[in-house]
Amino acid sequence: MSGKEGSDPVLPPYRSGAIEDPRLPLNPYSDDQQPWPGLAEKMDPQPDHGEESYKGHDRLKGKRALITGGDSGIGRAAAIAYAREGADVAINYHPDEESDAQTVVKLIEAEGRRAVALPADIRDEQAARKVIDDAVKGLGGLEVLVLNAGRQQAQKSIADITSDAFDATIKTNIYAPFWMAQQALPYLKKGASIIVTSSINAFSPSPDMLDYAMTKGAGKVFAQGLAKQLAPKGIRVNAVAPGPFWTALQVSGGQPREDLPEFGADSPLGRAGQPVEIAPIYVLLASDEASYITGEVYGATGGSGTG
Ligand code: NAD
Ligand code: MG
Repeated sequence: MSGKEGSDPVLPPYRSGAIEDPRLPLNPYSDDQQPWPGLAEKMDPQPDHGEESYKGHDRLKGKRALITGGDSGIGRAAAIAYAREGADVAINYHPDEESDAQTVVKLIEAEGRRAVALPADIRDEQAARKVIDDAVKGLGGLEVLVLNAGRQQAQKSIADITSDAFDATIKTNIYAPFWMAQQALPYLKKGASIIVTSSINAFSPSPDMLDYAMTKGAGKVFAQGLAKQLAPKGIRVNAVAPGPFWTALQVSGGQPREDLPEFGADSPLGRAGQPVEIAPIYVLLASDEASYITGEVYGATGGSGTG
């Protein structure tokens, strides 16, 4: 720690016990895989979503947020942070993820905030639109929409991506955010914020994630274009572009098995990120502090960059 002996260490404001050296800890991962969609609770080692460490400062007091894919990974980290910053939070997730989702519901409620659990397969248009309506009913309104759910299934060759797999990726990563933003629009008032989870793949596509990278490029452009369209209504739209983060998506087909133990080690910081390390970006973009921030793409890539 950087503080003198006996004095309080200087910590980033959002995390207690945060590490001083951003290269650490190095993460030796197992190559355990799970069937899609994967559960955070079965991962080895457990990801850090901020359960023990995220400290809130009322930056989202009174806001109501829906986070798709809020059961695990980056979405769970955002859900925990949002609740600790004073927001009520609805999470959407696939029905096979109920146990992860219930863990998040308990964490939100432990902050005295309202939690709304919305299981639904959002590849289906009606189901995706109903999630929005149910979130608004459950929360009593909506100020923050985080379009974060995503599908990533690695394939070494374009020849091995079936039309069904391609369709599932496009439905999850392009159609669903489009349907959900469209459905949410009548509910969103001035000051509302939409956040789309894109990826470093939108800038530097991995050769073994061709279909996924295409959709993440689309997500980035969607956020940038929608930001211009909604600016006259006082609604902000931004994208987040994560680099490698240790989440269920990666161990349920997102990476080739042989790449899992060294996952993220090729980034300049030498390791993958933990979901809690990207939560502050989601908090900033949702908060009124970001009142002049729209149409932007925020990276958290461990040094690889988004240029
Ligand atoms: P994750 O598996 O924890 O979260 C993805 C979530 O998407 C799942 O929990 C699930 O609830 C949801 N989802 C997927 N298909 C669905 C469907 N058909 N119906 C309903 N929900 C569905 O993994 P994550 O890494 O936290 O992923 C969150 C977002 O971050 C994704 O959009 C992903 O593409 C993006 N991302 C992740 C990384 C990374 O390294 N982990 C890097 C760049 C971008
Ligand atoms: Mg999940």
